Amino acid sequence: MANSRKDRTQPSQATPMPSEMAHPKDSKSSLCPSSPPDTQDSVVFGIVGGTVDSPQVAYLREPQPITDELLALSEPVDPTEVYRIAASCWERGCQHFDGHQCHLIQQIVEGLPTVVKDLPPCRIRQDCRWWQQEGKAACLRCPQIVRTNYSMSETVKKVIKPHLDREIIALREAEIGNGE
Ligand code: SF4
Repeated sequence: MANSRKDRTQPSQATPMPSEMAHPKDSKSSLCPSSPPDTQDSVVFGIVGGTVDSPQVAYLREPQPITDELLALSEPVDPTEVYRIAASCWERGCQHFDGHQCHLIQQIVEGLPTVVKDLPPCRIRQDCRWWQQEGKAACLRCPQIVRTNYSMSETVKKVIKPHLDREIIALREAEIGNGE
């Protein structure tokens, strides 16, 4: 059934193209551009193409809200193998967040090569945490990123490590729940 997942919102993140955008640090809200599909405001903003060894994301002209039909289209593989999904950043609920910054995109910028020469035509840019934090350096590496990749290169495996393990995140959330 279309939009049967409760509380999903329309993609308010449709943004101007790069030439029309403000400086990255001007943006207040943040979307994670490598999100799972089950966060409240998830949208698909890119489709994974290229090859297994060299993935290359194609960015949609208009991000699409997640629906059950859209998720079913990815079968038999997981949606995160073929879609790039954006949703509100989990911040302290994420193993890559240090309380201030996203370590995932820091690692990507420091350890992976650029894969495009120009800013990709990405419609979530204005709200993207990676762009807000790292600017163009993030966008020039972004098209090679696939959230679930069973053929991840050795380089990517070496570069991307969680900042925190899941047990610490669980403790943090318990502290927040206790008002500490
Ligand atoms: S890093 Fe750049 S290209 Fe990637 S999702 Fe964010 S704004 Fe779009």
